[in-house]
Amino acid sequence: MSLNPVRPWRNIYRRKSRQIMVGNVPVGGDAPISVQTMTNTDSSDVRATLDQVIRAADVGADIVRVSTPDESSTRALREICRESPVPIVADIHFHYKRAIEAAEAGAACLRINPGNIGDEKRVAEVVRAAKDHGCSIRIGVNAGSLERHLLEKYGEPCPEAMVESAMDHIRILEDHDFREYKISVKASDVFLAAAAYQGIAEATDAPIHLGITEAGGLTSGTVKSAIGLGNLLWMGIGDTLRVSLSADPVEEVKVGFEILKSLGLRTRGVQIISCPSCARQGFDVIATVAELEERLEHIKTPISLSIIGCVVNGPGEALMTDIGFTGGGAGSGMVYMAGKQDHKQANADMIDHIVELVEKKSAEIEAEKAAAE
Ligand code: SF4
Repeated sequence: MSLNPVRPWRNIYRRKSRQIMVGNVPVGGDAPISVQTMTNTDSSDVRATLDQVIRAADVGADIVRVSTPDESSTRALREICRESPVPIVADIHFHYKRAIEAAEAGAACLRINPGNIGDEKRVAEVVRAAKDHGCSIRIGVNAGSLERHLLEKYGEPCPEAMVESAMDHIRILEDHDFREYKISVKASDVFLAAAAYQGIAEATDAPIHLGITEAGGLTSGTVKSAIGLGNLLWMGIGDTLRVSLSADPVEEVKVGFEILKSLGLRTRGVQIISCPSCARQGFDVIATVAELEERLEHIKTPISLSIIGCVVNGPGEALMTDIGFTGGGAGSGMVYMAGKQDHKQANADMIDHIVELVEKKSAEIEAEKAAAE
């Protein structure tokens, strides 16, 4: 990312990692931090799984993971990979044959721990399939499923055990001359996950896949992920992420983007800055923001929009946003464009008006971008 010379306190210095490809999405190096999610449909149901992949891609998912526990799901994977608008990661545990089938079916990446596949011959076969089909691999260490010998050595899941597990898996891939891998060291405990990620970030230059596993439902999981992933990203650690929620994958993608947007690491779509509202509000801020979020979901161009209840904070916030609306008296408010007062607008049809302004602004920006290219 480019550094901010005017506001150096906003700079995040990303850890230098090497870059790999997950299909056509670069992960690591100076590539944008990608957002992933995972389907929760029956993977052998092509239509249901594809629908979920497409819905996730529509809200910005760069990569989607699909679990492939059996042969019928690796068979279905072929069509899913062919029709998917984004690269598909096949999630495999233990069964090396599923990994080979998934690579043959067109998976862009295999999530598999080489240490769990079995003997040397099986590892070699999986690595060969990955190389032959241009797949990368994600080594996914999880505090909840650490190898027995590491639990015996360390007594309980701890950052050192997770890093050692990851390094053991890395060594196996490197011994097979395979370097197209990324790593995750997930835990449901934010302290454990954050410490393990810091450890692995120092131990290797491989790209890092961030996640707080089993984070919880929409609200609690969002908070936990924002704390865990947010801190790591702020430290410059992380090249791709998945927010794990017991919720619709679409929500995971939205939360992932919001975390990145809050840190200025990615911009996508409309970023609404709104006040919590109080007795001073000149219009119903909460209902307005809820409706605007829904009606502006289709906008992909990064645009900032401030929706503020009154003049206490409205003009100040509008200064820093592309479009702003500040509530006033007598059923109307002020519209700001690029920080400057532009025109008055009646509250009654303010939402339609703002949607129109944002769509127009988005079209202008896209046209300028196309002309520049
Ligand atoms: S900006 Fe105005 S309406 Fe919004 S919370 Fe502050 S004082 Fe209340």
